[in-house]
Amino acid sequence: MARKIVITSGKGGVGKTTVCANLGLHLAEMGLRVVMLDVDIGLNNLDVIMGVENKVVFDLVDVIENKCRSKQALIQDFYISNLYTLPSVHSYNASRVTGEGIKQVIAGLDVFFDYILIDCPAGVDAPFHRAVYGADEAIVVVTPHLSSLRDADKVLNILVGYNIRSVSLVVNRVRGDLILEREIMNTAEISEMLSSNLIGAIPEDDNLANGLLRKNTSEAYRAFELLALNVHKETNKIYDCTLKYKGLTGAFKRNLRRKI
Ligand code: ADP
Ligand code: MG
Repeated sequence: MARKIVITSGKGGVGKTTVCANLGLHLAEMGLRVVMLDVDIGLNNLDVIMGVENKVVFDLVDVIENKCRSKQALIQDFYISNLYTLPSVHSYNASRVTGEGIKQVIAGLDVFFDYILIDCPAGVDAPFHRAVYGADEAIVVVTPHLSSLRDADKVLNILVGYNIRSVSLVVNRVRGDLILEREIMNTAEISEMLSSNLIGAIPEDDNLANGLLRKNTSEAYRAFELLALNVHKETNKIYDCTLKYKGLTGAFKRNLRRKI
């Protein structure tokens, strides 16, 4: 049976799709069978981040409306054969899609995969409900900004009412230099403030500007590697986003970063 994890946040633009795609990639690189489900109907972009938008024939709504089988809508990753995307649709009357409909799609994929990652839309209304309904675990993505923290707190409270057995926190877009300057909270403080289990910290990294980070030596790549290990092996190694700003050369980098 697959682990069904919804990646959510409340606030838009904090990195849900980025976390979904990169976590999916790293789990797949560990040899696990992964499908990423784009449930962001209307503002979907997981297919674009994965670079498979030109391969879309069928989408999530086609599966729900029985126009095709779920396997026909899956798009295999170009480089990793055990990584798939189930794309969403741009223009559609989303109110016709129900949480139950999405849950049925998930149930149909269950036996074929180790992980089903659900990329949730922003907000806490019907689209949120649809995405969360079929999941049994949740990762809440938050950035170290007040508005994001407030929305995450709201989402964490709402999740209590769902049948979710495990909720964890990923702090994204972390600026290690600002943590050392005490201008923003560190990741442990954020997790404590939200009374939530911290499972990953992802630095602010220009390499993520296009979303997906395939094999490279960047900080964010290593941070996602640790996140995938924490998810799969239940380790607790959080990437230290302040590391490169410590010591003498670190202080120099910190000064440089401030001038950008
Ligand atoms: P959401 O799905 O929550 O709306 P996205 O994953 O689409 O957010 O991310 C919004 C934007 O932020 C994208 O352009 C993405 O490339 C960028 N981004 C996300 N995380 C990071 C990061 N850690 N460092 C730099 N840019 C990031
Ligand atoms: Mg998104």
